[in-house]
Amino acid sequence: MSAAQIMGLVASGQATSRADLSRLLGLAPSTVSSYVQELLDAGLLEESGEGRSRGGRRPRLLSVRAGDGVILAADLGGHHARIATMDRAGRPEAIQDLEIDITAGPEPILAQVTDALAELAAGRPVLGMGIGLPGPVDSDGVVVGSSRMHGWNGFSVRRRLAEYYQAPLVVDNDANLMAMGEAVVRGPELRDFVFVKAGTGLGAALVNDGRLHRGARGVAGDVSHNRVPAGGDRPCNCGNFGCLETISSGAALVAAVRADGVDIATTADLVRLARDGNPTVNTTLRFAGRQLGEVLVTIVNFFNPQAVILSGALATCDLFVAAARGALYERCLPLTTQELQIGESVAGPDAGLLGIGRRLIDQGLAVPVRNLP
Ligand SMILES: [Zn+2]
Repeated sequence: MSAAQIMGLVASGQATSRADLSRLLGLAPSTVSSYVQELLDAGLLEESGEGRSRGGRRPRLLSVRAGDGVILAADLGGHHARIATMDRAGRPEAIQDLEIDITAGPEPILAQVTDALAELAAGRPVLGMGIGLPGPVDSDGVVVGSSRMHGWNGFSVRRRLAEYYQAPLVVDNDANLMAMGEAVVRGPELRDFVFVKAGTGLGAALVNDGRLHRGARGVAGDVSHNRVPAGGDRPCNCGNFGCLETISSGAALVAAVRADGVDIATTADLVRLARDGNPTVNTTLRFAGRQLGEVLVTIVNFFNPQAVILSGALATCDLFVAAARGALYERCLPLTTQELQIGESVAGPDAGLLGIGRRLIDQGLAVPVRNLP
């Protein structure tokens, strides 16, 4: 039991009272009360108003006190980064968008991002720092096998950041962090879900019982290199052939539509033409959504999630989502789809930032109190 555990339960909204903490931690109310008092005295928690009574005296509501320190967060894409300072509860304070070119390599990009974060933090103590990267990251914070992050493979982002910050760090791929952000926005009711990021690339993440499942080496959830029959012998940037990525990623869709004579360059162009009802684009999108759905069928049958949540540019295309949903309803075991929600992410552009906040809070911020016994 640590101060961080209590802070985490309160910050995530799982506990709003001493009674909640007592139930969740399996500790006697008197024990919880003395721990809470210590955190109140240290200025880390505060209490306000009165909650709903479950019989007896109405409990005072606990919340995390904003305080002085800041969490620093950076969510990096191929061409832009969204950075923020957040309070101790993981609520964003100042947010800024930066233009970057991820292929410039780790040293200049990390220097640019940490400089910008230092300006936002304005000298306040750093409670934790997290970064999301648009490629696979192993459990040591090293970028592994990314085809889109030229110059980053084998680079330990964690080690580099540890030179900048004497604070807890989170280094992970964007889909994992966005999934945690979705969990923050949806609240504790949503505990088991599959999160798919379908943009120019494809990524996915698994949240199990409210926690991100990273797997043995930290790369769990990647569905993009599952082989699909329609992939045939198309070469994939992973070195294999016929991966889902070669059919259902934005990059693959743009290439397919171009081969059919439609002159577009980016996933954003594709989405725009889909809105205009371009028939070539629509046929291609429907096919790609179907292929994604068929790969997700295996995962839904195996994992039995509450929800499959789609995000990224392609998730804004109704035909793509409808085709994936169709495959899931048609092919999954009926019990798995009876109450399955399939739909678009609600966490919005701050999903990655919110996920960083949650992960740092869960693993424990740099809190200026002694660990409770
Ligand atoms: Zn592949």
